[in-house]
Amino acid sequence: MNHLFKEVSENYTLPEAIREAQRCLHCKVPGCKKGCPISNDIPDWISELAKGNFGNAMKIINSRSNLPAVCGRVCGHERQCEGNCVLAKKGRHINIGKLERFVADFDGEAGLTHEAIPEKSRGAVAVIGSGPAGLTIAGDLARQGFRVEIFEMQPEPGGVLMFGIPEYRLPKEVVRREIKKIENLGVLFHLDTTIGRTLTIDDLFARGFDAIFMGTGTGRPKTLPIPGINHPGVRQAIWFLRRVSLYQSGCIDQKEVVIGRGDRIAVIGCGNTAIDAARTALRMGAAEVTVIYHRTVNEMSALRAEYDDAVAEGVKFMWKSSVKEIRGAENDGAPTDMPWDAGNRLSGITVDTEGTLTDMTVDRVILAVGSAPASRIVDSTDGINVDSKGYVLTRDVPYGMTSRRGVFAGGDVTNRPATVVHAMQDAKRVADGIIRYIDAVKLMESIDLPS
Ligand code: SF4
Repeated sequence: MNHLFKEVSENYTLPEAIREAQRCLHCKVPGCKKGCPISNDIPDWISELAKGNFGNAMKIINSRSNLPAVCGRVCGHERQCEGNCVLAKKGRHINIGKLERFVADFDGEAGLTHEAIPEKSRGAVAVIGSGPAGLTIAGDLARQGFRVEIFEMQPEPGGVLMFGIPEYRLPKEVVRREIKKIENLGVLFHLDTTIGRTLTIDDLFARGFDAIFMGTGTGRPKTLPIPGINHPGVRQAIWFLRRVSLYQSGCIDQKEVVIGRGDRIAVIGCGNTAIDAARTALRMGAAEVTVIYHRTVNEMSALRAEYDDAVAEGVKFMWKSSVKEIRGAENDGAPTDMPWDAGNRLSGITVDTEGTLTDMTVDRVILAVGSAPASRIVDSTDGINVDSKGYVLTRDVPYGMTSRRGVFAGGDVTNRPATVVHAMQDAKRVADGIIRYIDAVKLMESIDLPS
């Protein structure tokens, strides 16, 4: 089974990477850099790569990104750097994502660069959550001389990178290698530790942290008001993807993943998570997978490249369509935490496509219609304000600080970013906000004010 999850995109060989890098025009006003949410110095590192200076290329990338091997694989390059490359107009943009991946993998495998660990003397920061936002904050602050400790509720760090994005797009070994780099900067990880349950925000301040960052993402999946939606044959995409990830790590049995050989699957939604779930269902042996979306192909939030791959692999799409009813022979209303065994199959769904109703036979429905933040942390401490949907409210100065002094938030939990790199972009701004805040507090403490 695992060969089906082999990474779909091949890496460059060394000569191929250098040849591709040598096509770069080193533009004076580089559109690629402008298109990159974290302002990666793309022409500079491509220039080093073109000369075969891999270590220098890596150092330049590291100065802006903590997760280049991840970004090189899962960023929306078509809408960002590559889409803004001057050569894109002729349909021959530089394959920046693939080059970034090459440099990061080459460096990781050969162990070329070793960053010096700065003295941790500027202050201490607790980071809650180890997804893209948390890892970015941790890496940026550790490089700036802060002591950083990450608190993660899962047994392994990485958040959505580890449990959300499937192996064929982002191998777990790549994520582990990136996390090791951050650990090597002196960042400490506390796993199986849920803030809001094991410890509270107040406990963290009592441990001497100067600031706390909440990068907890959106762990509470949304649902739809469709008759039959609570049938156990309906599951959340993030639940399914996490199950597959646990199965691949050997933590659970294949039957607990729940998609079986020959299953007919309907996926509701058309973002990247929906496409990930659809392609993963096929890999788990589903006979038929149909993505049902209420808008058009041009309005989907999924990346075009992911959609194209899904079509090539056999995923079907129904546009301008909504599920009106979900029918299950048994177990309607049964608790949804029971194993998704054969007895929990559906018998079918009714789909409305621009007024035309179609009955479809499906065995399972996967819901991928977005998610909202969990309220655990906010409920277990005073003074952190949220909006009506539960997203944490933050201010612009210092950037990312919540209504509670010293507590910052960023990434999905604040409802700003939508992709890995946008979470990183936001986290970099919050890291600056934290630095300004701690430096200002320490300065005030060091001044002997007249009484
Ligand atoms: Fe190179 Fe394209 Fe960037 Fe110009 S825009 S520097 S050609 S990658």
